Amino acid sequence: MPKQSVKDISHKDRTVLMRVDFNVPLDADGRIIDDRRIRMAIPTIEHVLKEGGRLVLMSHLGRPAGTGPEAAFSLKPVAERLDDLLGKHHGVRFATDCVGALARDGVNSIEPGDALVLENLRFHAGEKKNDPEFAASLAELADVYVNDAFGTAHRDHASMVGVPEHMSGKPHVAGLLLMKELEYLSSAITEAKAPFYAVLGGAKVSDKLGAIRYLLDKVDVILVGGAMAYTFLSSQGHVIGKSLVEEDMIEIAGQLLQAAQDKGKKILLPEDHQCSTSLDDLEGVRNCELGIPPDCMGLDIGPETARAWKEEISKAKTVVWNGPLGVFEKPPFDRGSRAVAEGIADATKHHAVSIVGGGETAAAIESFDMAKRFSHISTGGGASLKMLEGVSFRSVELLDEA
Ligand code: AMP
Repeated sequence: MPKQSVKDISHKDRTVLMRVDFNVPLDADGRIIDDRRIRMAIPTIEHVLKEGGRLVLMSHLGRPAGTGPEAAFSLKPVAERLDDLLGKHHGVRFATDCVGALARDGVNSIEPGDALVLENLRFHAGEKKNDPEFAASLAELADVYVNDAFGTAHRDHASMVGVPEHMSGKPHVAGLLLMKELEYLSSAITEAKAPFYAVLGGAKVSDKLGAIRYLLDKVDVILVGGAMAYTFLSSQGHVIGKSLVEEDMIEIAGQLLQAAQDKGKKILLPEDHQCSTSLDDLEGVRNCELGIPPDCMGLDIGPETARAWKEEISKAKTVVWNGPLGVFEKPPFDRGSRAVAEGIADATKHHAVSIVGGGETAAAIESFDMAKRFSHISTGGGASLKMLEGVSFRSVELLDEA
């Protein structure tokens, strides 16, 4: 069901409580290493502020113990960065607690068009437990609830589900970032144009099992690379040297290959491999066809597979990609992912819709400086994978229908 967004309601003179994902990486001195998550939330934040709303922002940051404040996980540096990013048109204040008198005083101190960042939700154990009392104390702060935290959409935490449940009769709407994620990871997949390709890689079959099962009914072709491929190749009796393999998944991998065949779908596996004796043995890198010698491991798809897959994927009209095809962090094992990324970017240029799951795949594409050549790069690793498994989120179900 389509959801209402921040654009469907008025914010003027209202106090708007917005859940965002400000879980940014910090260095040892508490400085922000990458502010992408803050920047991604700006369009929704500016929308509310420009309409004259009083905006109260809440987020988690890192993994504090949940027993009280911890300086290393404070959102204060995030509030300061947001203040810089918004410029002088809007003021940004910071409240040293997210509930209670300090939070209420903070909310009362802001003018329409200004924002208040609440301290880390996870300093309270009630956030992760979805404690009703904690959720109620957040809910009482505002007149409107906005969820723009796609990265946390799969978590039934207080700020994601308890708060909207405690704000009955008041609007619950999606932020612009959440709307975009839902549009791409839901409608673009269920109403995909053929040929529809999925590219799956990364470390483990077990992590992607749900996605493979769901996507098998939707796509025409799945390209399987990364360490995952070796479990599939093992199930076909290929010799894979000392490549990573999940022994307890070999049988299931075989069943998936059979299921694909029964459904008339193609699962393509790499036919050559960039191998070495270890990740650190760059002198010993060589190309192997099957099988891989006993002292070697496959660390990327090989050049012939990369060339063939690049050409194949450029025919796609819809592509979803989750999981790098090799150890992209360590050249030359980035070449397979790079080649397939080029193929997908080519397809996108010819009007294909290309969707990249977050996490490691997004990091790979950023490192290739190719982000702009895809239709959508998700901001949520875990949440985007859940959506590729066809899971629907309670946090989204609770938002008002359009
Ligand atoms: P995931 O988070 O499951 O998508 O896994 C991503 C990780 O898989 C990356 O850090 C890659 O380095 C790793 N990876 C990809 N291909 C291989 C491979 N052939 N052998 C070992 N690790 C791999």
